Amino acid sequence: MDMSMLANGEALAPDILVFDGVVKSYGEAPVLQGVSFSVKAGEVVCVVGPSGSGKSTLLRCVNGLEKFTAGRILFEGAELPTSERSLAQIRQRIGMVFQHFELFPHMTVLGNVVEGPVQVLGESKASARARGLELLAKVGLESKQHERPANLSGGQQQRVAIARALAMRPDLMLFDEATSALDPQMVGEVLGVMKQLADDGMTMLIVTHEMGFAKRVADRVVVLDQGQVIASGPPSDVLENSANPRVREFLQQVR
Ligand code: ADP
Ligand code: MG
Repeated sequence: MDMSMLANGEALAPDILVFDGVVKSYGEAPVLQGVSFSVKAGEVVCVVGPSGSGKSTLLRCVNGLEKFTAGRILFEGAELPTSERSLAQIRQRIGMVFQHFELFPHMTVLGNVVEGPVQVLGESKASARARGLELLAKVGLESKQHERPANLSGGQQQRVAIARALAMRPDLMLFDEATSALDPQMVGEVLGVMKQLADDGMTMLIVTHEMGFAKRVADRVVVLDQGQVIASGPPSDVLENSANPRVREFLQQVR
């Protein structure tokens, strides 16, 4: 009997990321008040919640851009290190895509994608370029390889940012409102790339206001409110059938 599968076909995948009672304050102000949930290998977890509820802070704690006050975060079974040097190594294995793409403006599209693998991972230029072109093809932008970022639309720039993150061969991808700064007609192309990544089995923790996307793509949805998890579970339970009045109120506001 294959013990890696349960009767319902759900894999007993290991936890990639665990939040265990994570607390964060800015001075007196509590921002995260004991957040606990986990993300398994190959899972897509969407974090939703009102503005100011602590979603960005939570993501920033994962790659050490922000220090938390109490609790634990485990990445691939080990507690996050505190030294900058060890954190830098962890960051190499976690891709992050922000609202604002922050591409290197003086480099070509392909240059942006090969920079990390060559400079940080020590890959040869030839192999980094070959793989960079594959990744650009995956996000539908192979033909733009020689362009500067400024000549691309917002949606195209965000797709380059995703290819750039993937070039580092991350074990986990974090997205913080990756489509919030885009014109509405460009949101779909970026969500399409994210959906494709999910279908390929990438482990993803996604902060988003796109409830339709969360319903279609997430394995689980976590609702954060005032630094606390007020609901979590399958999208149908959380986004369609929640009895929690605070969850319902939030969902009415984003609709
Ligand atoms: P979200 O991403 O859900 O909108 P954030 O994580 O950005 O929420 O912010 C959560 C809370 O923490 C907000 O009240 C915000 O004002 C506060 N906050 C965020 N960053 C800082 C900071 N550097 N210093 C002080 N307060 C901050
Ligand atoms: Mg935010």
